[in-house]
Amino acid sequence: MTCPSCGPLLGTLDVRYDCAGLARDVTPADIFARPERTHWRYHELLPVPAPELIVDFPVGMTPLVRARLGPGEGTEVFVKDDSRNPSGSLKDRASSVAVALAARGGKSLPIACASTGNAASSLAALCARAGRPCLVFVPRTAPVEKLTQLLLYGARVFMVEGTYDDAFDLCAKVCARFGFYNRNTAVNPYLGEGKKTAALEIWEQLGGRAPDAVIVPVGDGCIVSGVHKGFADLREAGWIEKVPRLVGAQAEGSSAIARAWEAGAASCGPYEARTIADSISVSVPRDQVKALRAVRATGGAFVRVTDEEILAALAALASGTGIFVEPAAAASVAAFLKASAAGDLDGARTIVLLVTGYGLKDVASARKAVAREPVAVRPDVDAVARIIEKETGLTG
Ligand SMILES: *Cc1c(COP(=O)(O)O)cnc(C)c1O
Repeated sequence: MTCPSCGPLLGTLDVRYDCAGLARDVTPADIFARPERTHWRYHELLPVPAPELIVDFPVGMTPLVRARLGPGEGTEVFVKDDSRNPSGSLKDRASSVAVALAARGGKSLPIACASTGNAASSLAALCARAGRPCLVFVPRTAPVEKLTQLLLYGARVFMVEGTYDDAFDLCAKVCARFGFYNRNTAVNPYLGEGKKTAALEIWEQLGGRAPDAVIVPVGDGCIVSGVHKGFADLREAGWIEKVPRLVGAQAEGSSAIARAWEAGAASCGPYEARTIADSISVSVPRDQVKALRAVRATGGAFVRVTDEEILAALAALASGTGIFVEPAAAASVAAFLKASAAGDLDGARTIVLLVTGYGLKDVASARKAVAREPVAVRPDVDAVARIIEKETGLTG
């Protein structure tokens, strides 16, 4: 699954298709007319060995919502709301592909993964649906909401006394010893194939065109490289002219890849991660090489955002659009606000912000973003009326 001479840290192999040949057999209009309402509607661009291996689960085809955010004026901004996947994060796109492929190894082959929380809860959900055993390795710091999901979906959960990075290595060793199927990011190239379907949907939802820029939260770098792969496949098929500028949003406290990009480096050293955005809190980014390559190839950028900026963006997205996301997902909104204020997105007319995980995944962090606390009142209409009159000027 990984390049034998580069080793796992330098990247997974690429999954290649005959995109030009495909474009001779089907048209975008054929695809857009399909009744299939999951990301499997793009099956020609996915590595499915046989349709009967696909688990029936409503993954993908998440809403692309027009949003009034940032400076506005001449730009259209969309939010791609991937918090609306069945387990509450974009990871379902990757897990559904992994579970379909693991089925080639037999009905009872266990699947394992290490995760800061979402990849594990996603895998556990898909395995529950498929009736397949599942083992997950999570760090002690995983939010209780994600842990609760995992336990209820029925995964065997190993809580690793260490970081996500320790959990990752441990999972790889267990898979090697028992022959389990490994769903780890940056070990298994098929995960990026699942993640790329977010790009295919953006293309379809914009009426068969690519936006000018897509902003993606980055931890390991698998989503941003997957999104790049999706647009690159579309370009190879001749269905878009240009891959959009990809902007990677990293938390200041977990910014190894952003710093390597700023230094012009092709890879990065370890960085002691500490951020409220647990899903992008990664000390050794596993898909760093592909992520750096993807952003450079498109003339994009990396933007570092602080935890305060992430929480402010989380609140602005919720109150401005009705979309409630977890801190890692809000990083793309924070990066958008920062980059557009700095003029770094000048010339981009259509911009998509990919939001990757649901708000109730980490309630304690979301609570910190609340600006206005509730007001305590007696059950007395006059008491409430006085407050409304004072705050709004209305008379009741
Ligand atoms: C996994 C995840 C990310 C980061 O994806 P990488 O592939 O690690 O860069 C971002 N947001 C959410 C909600 C995630 O679960």
